[in-house]
Amino acid sequence: MTSSRSQMIAGMLGFSAGTFPFSYLKCPIFKGTKINLWTDNWLGNSLLELLQIPLAIHNQLRAIVADIIADGALLLPAAALMGPTAPLLDSLVWLHSSNSKLTSKLALNFLKPAVVNLPWAAVIWKSCIPPAHSFILWCIMHGKIPTDENLRRRGCINVSICSFCLRTDESYEHLFLHCPFAKNIWLWLGGLLHTPFDILSFAALLGSIPQNCSSQIHDIHLAAVIHSLHGIWMARNSLRFTDQTASLHSTKVHILVAISFSGNISTGKCIVSDANILDALLVSPHNRRVSDILMVYWKAPLAPWIKLNTDGSLIGSHAACGGLFRDHRGSLLGAFVCNIGTSTVFYAEVYAFLLALEYAAQNGWRNVWLESDSTIALLVFKNRSLVLVLLHNGWHNVCNQGIQIISSHVFREGNCCAYFLANMGHTTQGNVWLSVLPQTIQTDFFLDRSGFPRSRLP
Ligand SMILES: [Zn+2]
Repeated sequence: MTSSRSQMIAGMLGFSAGTFPFSYLKCPIFKGTKINLWTDNWLGNSLLELLQIPLAIHNQLRAIVADIIADGALLLPAAALMGPTAPLLDSLVWLHSSNSKLTSKLALNFLKPAVVNLPWAAVIWKSCIPPAHSFILWCIMHGKIPTDENLRRRGCINVSICSFCLRTDESYEHLFLHCPFAKNIWLWLGGLLHTPFDILSFAALLGSIPQNCSSQIHDIHLAAVIHSLHGIWMARNSLRFTDQTASLHSTKVHILVAISFSGNISTGKCIVSDANILDALLVSPHNRRVSDILMVYWKAPLAPWIKLNTDGSLIGSHAACGGLFRDHRGSLLGAFVCNIGTSTVFYAEVYAFLLALEYAAQNGWRNVWLESDSTIALLVFKNRSLVLVLLHNGWHNVCNQGIQIISSHVFREGNCCAYFLANMGHTTQGNVWLSVLPQTIQTDFFLDRSGFPRSRLP
């Protein structure tokens, strides 16, 4: 962006060009008649910056982007950028906005960034766990518990020693995780819940709570961690400030009673295999009602419609997607997997739609019933402005292919094949078309075809 343009926009928005991130402004390529090829930022950075062109020849660079577009394709090494097949007006877009619009919310976020979300913050407060106990964990995570180490840091002069083992000074990690007293509790709890607790750090301790278990068992694990931390702190205070001596046994009994209380009032549900843990903790099982369980089927379309299932996958920040086409008999017409690279799951889901519709256009399939397990991504069919800026041109192109599209949501249990294909995308190179499904997916494919129901537990 040229400085005169920055000043003009700064004036319109009421900001100072020196303090506002005008380098964030970026242009998508539609016609390219108003975009300077060299000075405008249409590639994420201007070509001047990307190619480090000497200042002396900047004035001679007057080409516009339209000069390098021929038949909808960019005649550039960066031809991965997709040009439109039908003319579109040029427009300025806001790079860091999902819908390309600069809203006051985005501007405020830039000037005053939102606080960082703490992953544990929303997890530790549960209706089945007394807030006074969760509060101890909250204080620990914020470094607010008045241990000797913490008091010293705030200027209190004290002689510190662990009240339990009398071997070392009292720090957070020692008191709650590494002291023989605490270790004994974590070991005992791990045996009781059939889950080894990682006591390397508090984050690792919370990370030990299993995610793929029934909701009642998850509540019990969380309650066990919180009640144990609370129990250790109470035992320490009792040793320091009262005549009573809190033994390891009495602390365990207190923790066990508290876990049992939380497990019984939890609103979570259990499964049959949880019986051992629930019995050991004296917690009554909260079984699911049959009506809570949903049966999910994959349904073949009516001819001449083609059913398309897609999915996106994110591992860390690496995205991939995949999908497959099936006809009215449930027979495979083809599948694809794509390794996207660093991106978001929303991008992966929408890119899967885009890629799938391009394949449909190439194969002459004009009636496509698209099914996905992402309700948010499916909104792009209702509201086109949700399509990410980088996919604008591609989306514009597939919309002009004359494909009739029905979109619908399906639970993940009914989208198994696409789910596995999306996961496969992480190990492939670029975009791969498959005319035969990999062996690992064939069982699910035939289960889908035979109308086999999959249960979805609440
Ligand atoms: Zn100790």
